[in-house]
Amino acid sequence: MALLGLLVLAVGAAAWYFVGTASGRAVLLAQAAREAVAGGGGAEFDGLRVFLCGTGSPLASPGRAQPCVAVTAGTALYVVDAGAGSHATMQLQRQPTRHLRAVLVTHLHTDHVTGIPDFNLMSWVDGRPAPLEVYGPDGVDRLVGGFNEALAPDRSYRVAHHGMRLLPPKLGVMVPVRIEPGIVHEGDGLTITAFAVDHSPVEPAFGYRFDYRGRSVVVSGDTVVTESLEQAAAGADLLLHDVLSLPIVRAVEEAALAADRPRVAQIFADIPSYHAHASELGGLALRTGVRMLAVYHYVPPPQNAVMEMVYRSELPDDTILTRDGMVFELPAASTEIRVVEP
Ligand SMILES: [Zn+2]
Ligand SMILES: [Zn+2]
Repeated sequence: MALLGLLVLAVGAAAWYFVGTASGRAVLLAQAAREAVAGGGGAEFDGLRVFLCGTGSPLASPGRAQPCVAVTAGTALYVVDAGAGSHATMQLQRQPTRHLRAVLVTHLHTDHVTGIPDFNLMSWVDGRPAPLEVYGPDGVDRLVGGFNEALAPDRSYRVAHHGMRLLPPKLGVMVPVRIEPGIVHEGDGLTITAFAVDHSPVEPAFGYRFDYRGRSVVVSGDTVVTESLEQAAAGADLLLHDVLSLPIVRAVEEAALAADRPRVAQIFADIPSYHAHASELGGLALRTGVRMLAVYHYVPPPQNAVMEMVYRSELPDDTILTRDGMVFELPAASTEIRVVEP
């Protein structure tokens, strides 16, 4: 044992000496750089692939970006909502964005849209071949027009620095696409359907359903449990649904009242009216007949084991509590759903 200990010490000392030299650091830096630029997430896969780029909500939580669900059908990438920090989750998990076709906005609350400029810039840099389209309800043209205007100086600096060949200017300007409920995209085997949900007073607010080669994924957006979603999600393979924990929200409200913080108390008294309560989602999953229920957009996000248990106590046992970086793979023409932990 003594000999083994000496050997470990000797190897440690040699490694420390290696890092202490300029050539040693250069070797390690080169290795780290190779790993950083290696492509990731683009392996050949035919089916629907869902990457959780944001599972949080406006209530900040370490390790969770604001809402973002990236759906790849074949090679085409669509992103449902892009909240703050969500592009960073893509980048950290090496999810390429050059195949990004569109951002599909569920509604115009800040937590669903403020990350859109990051997706636009980074997919432009990544070699996206067409302008980024942003689909959304009435008001999306104001949102996208405002982003385009506010970020004009940034685009000009990027082009001046890297050149028009690398960054064709017209590919940096986003295109708004105002949509109504119904089929909003059809092609290459993929159908995307928008449907109305109930996030009153936010109107309109949509969810999206993806159908590709016999597989289907539904993303609720922000909504209470509503019949329009039940119809749209009927028979789907995977339902990703907004979730609110009433016991946790009520506990925060009572604590805020006791601490004489009436503004916080009022916010927490208001929010249960426009998100789906965890206790209602089991019934919803049964009625729709979905193969798998997964929750995201937690109100509030669970930050410890106790909060997670409170969520689980109200949800069916097989519900997936998503985390940023989680992947669902639904191979074409099969019934399998693979859940890959981050
Ligand atoms: Zn909302
Ligand atoms: Zn939200």
